[in-house]
Amino acid sequence: MLNIESSIQYLKGIGSKRAYSFSKLGVNSLYDLLSFFPSAYQDRTRTVPVENLIYNNHQGCIFVKIGNSYQKRLSANLSILDIEVFDNKFHGYLRFFRNNNSRFRGDILSYLKKIFVKDYFTYIYGEAKEEYGKVIITAIDYEIVKDEFTTPLHFKRIIPIYAATEGLKQKFIRESLKTTLNSYTDFYPDLLKIIPDSYNIHKMEISAAIKKIHFPESLQEAEFARQSFALQEFLILETALLLSRNNLLQKNKIQEYKIKKTLLSAFKNNLDFEFTKDQKKAINDIFLDMQSKKTMNRMLMGDVGSGKTVVALSAILLAIENGYQAMIIAPTEVLAEQHYLTISNILKGLDVTISLLTSSLLKTQKEKKRLLESLKNGQTQIAIGTHSLIEDRIKFKNLSLVVIDEQHRFGVTQKFAALYKAKSPDVLMMTATPIPRALAMTVYGEIDITTIKHLPTGTIPVKTFLVTEEEAYSSTIKELKKGNQAYIVYPIIEESEKLDLKSAIQDFEKLSKDYFKDFKIALLHGRMKPQEKNLIMRKFKNKEFDVLVATTVIEVGIDVPNSTVIIIHNAERFGLSALHQLRGRVGRSTKQSYAYLISSSNSQNANERLSIMTSTNDGFQIAQKDLEMRGPGELMGTTQHGFPTFKAGNLATDVDIIELSKNIAKNILKDDPHLLKQENFLLKNLITKHFSSKIKFIGVG
Ligand code: ADP
Ligand code: MG
Repeated sequence: MLNIESSIQYLKGIGSKRAYSFSKLGVNSLYDLLSFFPSAYQDRTRTVPVENLIYNNHQGCIFVKIGNSYQKRLSANLSILDIEVFDNKFHGYLRFFRNNNSRFRGDILSYLKKIFVKDYFTYIYGEAKEEYGKVIITAIDYEIVKDEFTTPLHFKRIIPIYAATEGLKQKFIRESLKTTLNSYTDFYPDLLKIIPDSYNIHKMEISAAIKKIHFPESLQEAEFARQSFALQEFLILETALLLSRNNLLQKNKIQEYKIKKTLLSAFKNNLDFEFTKDQKKAINDIFLDMQSKKTMNRMLMGDVGSGKTVVALSAILLAIENGYQAMIIAPTEVLAEQHYLTISNILKGLDVTISLLTSSLLKTQKEKKRLLESLKNGQTQIAIGTHSLIEDRIKFKNLSLVVIDEQHRFGVTQKFAALYKAKSPDVLMMTATPIPRALAMTVYGEIDITTIKHLPTGTIPVKTFLVTEEEAYSSTIKELKKGNQAYIVYPIIEESEKLDLKSAIQDFEKLSKDYFKDFKIALLHGRMKPQEKNLIMRKFKNKEFDVLVATTVIEVGIDVPNSTVIIIHNAERFGLSALHQLRGRVGRSTKQSYAYLISSSNSQNANERLSIMTSTNDGFQIAQKDLEMRGPGELMGTTQHGFPTFKAGNLATDVDIIELSKNIAKNILKDDPHLLKQENFLLKNLITKHFSSKIKFIGVG
């Protein structure tokens, strides 16, 4: 007996080979297949007389009766098949070719001759023209039917167009869905059945919406159905978010902070620079938030190099001055280690205990025990780490401040898990990737935003060029001779990870023997052990190496002001925001820095994207372009880490539906704050399914 989670390979007509092709599209279960929605539609509701196609010179649908077939050989390699077809007025020939050089094997023409049975009918989507007094029709798509009374699947309707892949034809996907929709739509969890009609914009249940998204009667019906499905998707999200905020942020704050300056003054004296105006404003905003009775929920946005770390550190010291603990989570071990070193250095001579927690450090039992103990008994005041800091076993004595660096690299569930470490956390999220406010509100609810607009004075904008390898290397050598350092970055993209890594390592060997033989050069990549990575990073910072050849492990946050050059290989393979982050590794001092982009692509899209990089240094503008080109998923960190990607909903445009779902969620929770009532079980199950167990239900076992 099949259920909604069953693999689609058990469905009639699919089998393991096609199931494999489907899996490449992310479709594995019945659940996935039903909600594998079309990416576009084509209107084939109307058929026209053949005549219209000939004289209007455009593509369209016709319905014709099949006559005799004639096969002819034009040359050694080329044969044609003309199938006579009729409508009331015209007759013409539906023409197919066979080219023996083509990669398609088998006798396609014999096959066609067999299926185009004389006196049957066929729908054709294609074009027609007159050639030597004959009407010749070429088909882009066709469907043969026995008689005029048979309802076609691929014609006489709005047809769905799917994101297809090798091994799966549109027609096959459509057929699979038609059969599946008939038998299994009712299996799909149907929240909208339970939601009162007055809330349901189009009064459509999920089962109906699914059918209509695939096979709508009209484009408007398709859109209404999509909105109905989106309503369910957003309702799950908004309820989950409200639940977690109810549990966390809307509590009255326990902690109280007074500005004592016992640590803050000493810290300011330790800095060898003054805060910029924007930094002062940010610190001021944060201190006001922290001193208010409500917990802080603030996002600090500032371009790469704008000096967010010291702003966060000010907040941290305020917490510690008042006897609390604070933590910073960073997306990579390399960045966590760097924060640890930077902060330890700035706080030198101050009586503050800082601990670094990364999964590699937690590997030895003894060290792990010691670290966990020091968090629990409050000895560690600042905990710096990666997502290992949010593991369940990590407990704090009195954590009050959670700082999430490079927040876009964490998924929503990871962020919430971090907040569970404190009783009433003040939260500071930092990012160099700006997010439109409306979007931020959707995911985080009420959030305050502070922006650092200007970089510290004295830093000079990085000059960016699209160049050849030769040019990049010779310019780099000039910089190295001045005593500056350089990064050379290679992309490692998941699908071709092994090959990518191999070419990075090979290039490294070549570079160290060839171009850079007079310099000290090191290799850093994601497959290395964390200790190894950290050691290399530390040595690079100490100028023990001149050149660091790296994969994207250095993408975010790394701060080595003496580096003035970054070369990025295969730049076309990175997203714009990633390129901007990478470029932000240089230009961190008063020296002129350079970014050299090397691209092996000739595609127009790639060149257009790279020219944005060479023409602006403005992270906000770049993020905006990225948003336009790639959608909001990447910016929000929603494409990773278990945040549900929406199948019908669109975070950027469905503002009204999001608002509506927020209201429904509020009403449901007002009535049943922990979703304990029978009628809310389905909602609760769906939340658990999408958000794993990270959102906890207080009061539930
Ligand atoms: P990001 O905002 O990208 O995280 P960082 O916090 O790493 O930037 O800061 C970038 C560099 O700028 C660091 O080397 C930091 O010490 C330096 N810096 C921060 N604030 C100032 C300032 N007000 N004046 C001069 N340099 C600063
Ligand atoms: Mg940073």
